Amino acid sequence: MKIVFLDRDGVISIFTPNDYIKKWEEFKFIPEGIDGLKILNDAGYKVIIISNQAGVNKGLFTINDLNEITENMLKELKNKGVNNILKVYYCIHTKEENCECRKPKTGLFKKAEQDFGKIEFSKTYFIGDADIDIIAGKNVGTNTILVLTGKTKSKKEIELWEAKPDYIFDNLKEAAEFIVKKGRENGKI
Ligand SMILES: [Mg+2]
Ligand SMILES: [Zn+2]
Repeated sequence: MKIVFLDRDGVISIFTPNDYIKKWEEFKFIPEGIDGLKILNDAGYKVIIISNQAGVNKGLFTINDLNEITENMLKELKNKGVNNILKVYYCIHTKEENCECRKPKTGLFKKAEQDFGKIEFSKTYFIGDADIDIIAGKNVGTNTILVLTGKTKSKKEIELWEAKPDYIFDNLKEAAEFIVKKGRENGKI
């Protein structure tokens, strides 16, 4: 199974600085995010979403709000021909709770492995928009891709990061095109 791990906010949907997407009405797709998902879908890649949503345990929105966002997101994507999302995993804990699942920790990746069987992380990618995504990917051993549609706006910001992404693309569409092309070159398709 060909798997790509994705962050949600800033990759598929708009990133809101210093705020959370608290209800479905606030959720907006990034157009290239949908394009990228479609490209992965059509090339036979499965997608697992791994997202920190500490706003739940901060009391800013509820699990029900979060589930409603997820259901609507998946429904809209299905309408656009994206049927390849295996599962959406969230960490709802605050940093202070020191859980095992909040990125850059790897608990949610391990959970995916429990749910779907052994994953060769070195053959997968994790695509995110922030430094913690890149650190999380490195911690679990995936290839890491940074997209510039969210928290990180330019390559310049990355100069100060300790963990550098393996690849940087403007958006998920370009990242997906790269993954599919590379997969073909490696004879995986
Ligand atoms: Mg993000
Ligand atoms: Zn957690």
